[in-house]
Amino acid sequence: MKRRLRFACNLRLAIISLAGALFVSAAAAQVAPGEDASATLASADATKTSAHAAFAATIERLGRGAASLTPAQRAHLQYLQSWQAAYAGNYEEAVPLLEAVIGGSPDKTLRFRATATLVNILGNGHRYREAFSRLTDLIDTLPEIVDPQARYQGLAEAAQMLTAAGQYDLAAEYADRTIQETPSGENACKRSFIKMHALYRGKRVDGDDPRFAKGIAECTAVGESLVANALRADIADSALARGRPAVAIATLEPHYTQILGIQYSILTSQVESLLGQAHHEVGHPDIAEKYARAAVASSSSGEYSEPLAVALRTLYLVAKQRGDFEAATQWLERYMQADKGYLDDVTARALAYESVKQQVASSRMETDALDRQNQILHLQREVDRRSMESSRLYIVLLLTIVAAIALWLIRTKRAQVRFMRLARRDSLTGISNRQHFVERAGQSLASARKAGKPSCLILFDLDHFKLINDTFGHAEGDWVLLRVVAECRDHLLGDDVFGRLGGEEFAILLPGADEAAGMRRAELIRAAIAVPPAGSPSSARVTASFGVACTARLGHDLDRLLVVADDALYRGKDEGRDRVILATVNETQVPSRAPAIGRPAPTIRVASP
Ligand code: GH3
Ligand code: MG
Ligand code: MG
Repeated sequence: MKRRLRFACNLRLAIISLAGALFVSAAAAQVAPGEDASATLASADATKTSAHAAFAATIERLGRGAASLTPAQRAHLQYLQSWQAAYAGNYEEAVPLLEAVIGGSPDKTLRFRATATLVNILGNGHRYREAFSRLTDLIDTLPEIVDPQARYQGLAEAAQMLTAAGQYDLAAEYADRTIQETPSGENACKRSFIKMHALYRGKRVDGDDPRFAKGIAECTAVGESLVANALRADIADSALARGRPAVAIATLEPHYTQILGIQYSILTSQVESLLGQAHHEVGHPDIAEKYARAAVASSSSGEYSEPLAVALRTLYLVAKQRGDFEAATQWLERYMQADKGYLDDVTARALAYESVKQQVASSRMETDALDRQNQILHLQREVDRRSMESSRLYIVLLLTIVAAIALWLIRTKRAQVRFMRLARRDSLTGISNRQHFVERAGQSLASARKAGKPSCLILFDLDHFKLINDTFGHAEGDWVLLRVVAECRDHLLGDDVFGRLGGEEFAILLPGADEAAGMRRAELIRAAIAVPPAGSPSSARVTASFGVACTARLGHDLDRLLVVADDALYRGKDEGRDRVILATVNETQVPSRAPAIGRPAPTIRVASP
């Protein structure tokens, strides 16, 4: 029976939530009809303890006209109604009202205050799991809250709830923050109690710590006798724990009457229980019994608290000392029941705190894991997108290179073709030049020889062309050359080979043509050249002299045919021009003369304009 018992922290509700505005002295809320409801609510809120009756009346009156309030005003009213219900000890009514405010108010400060009050009520009602769960929400939202009074309430609540959970170091930290953030107008009394109570419960200090005396002085100075005596209760408890019952009696007894006057049963039973234990220990069983019985009477019925257990234990010890074993047995039974009930409650608080902490930690871990999973997915998607982009880029690059190469090839090919064509063509008329003509005519004659087919070569030279140039100009001469080429083309067949051998001398190879056909075709062309086309802008009369050499007499050798045809042509010139001469075998026997180009012109025929 030497185990020391500690007092429960049932002073929480009285100290903070309900006594939150104990020192705000304001007139009772006088709400005139038509007055600004927000102002009325704010004023009622500020005077809820100092002018409690007026406050209750105002709340009731506003409640009747709640339909005309804005949602924000309704939420504020709901909060004050819940506070009023809790003040009256009606927790069953207060809890759903506070939950409605937390779930529905647009004002986050009001939601925060409602959460703080709810934590307090739930803790007081032994609903520890819910209380610690709400406390977690409260601590999480604290950084968003700027209102100093609301922050102070939240911090103080956290400090006290953590003390109740046996988390004394953490509680002391919150107590320090409560001290740092005390709003102007708040006195140092309550915060001293919160801090010292947390330190004492955590065995960080004993009742001799000078801060206890300082706290009592602060509380006495502002008339906070409830809190001053709560501090004294901790000093007395500490004295008893260290075997100094006389100190406990000296600390509490002079204030007992005052304590009874406060009419706060939790404090009363605590003090009576301590005094009972102290008097028993100094050997005053009668006084001990008196205090202990008073403590049992002051304890709320149906609830197991530490003071009740201690008082029952004192009564058991006193009865045993007196030898009243029957009474002792009865007190012992009640004591054991209360002690177990109280210890169960202590365990329940600690367990609830741990379980909520675990739950929060595991749900945070889950959130973290999900976050990480999301990050990985996001990164994966980014990598996929980048690799797709780069492979697209690669394809585009490849296609560009391929296209560039293709373009280059096409251009090169085109340039080659153009160059080849230029190399083969006569620049003025566009027909084959001498070289190309010789090449093609040679191939044609070779095929004809193989096929045993005849061919004829027509060679012609314009008559007195120099004179045309001299008379009408070089441009006119060019135009004449182009006309002659056009006339010839009109008389060509598919396989014929046509070329300009130089100056005004041309050649046509007629594959498959015998002598008669060769002569006929030459004659047609001669006539076409000699007759100027209708509407010709030129006044120059143009004729040409023709030599025709055919394979039937001369064989398929191009050089030979050219030489012989040239001879025949110049025979034509000699014979008066503008005619066609068929080369005979004789001419092949005559050695070739000087080239046709550059021969003297014996006669000039120019058409009259
Ligand atoms: P013949 O009847 O004897 O052939 O007399 P011809 O004047 O035609 O002969 P000649 O050889 O004396 O003169 C040929 C002229 O052709 C000389 C040259 O200026 C001219 N000629 C050569 N090539 C071209 C050309 O591309 N354009 C022009 N306008 N004249 C050319
Ligand atoms: Mg000529
Ligand atoms: Mg000539």
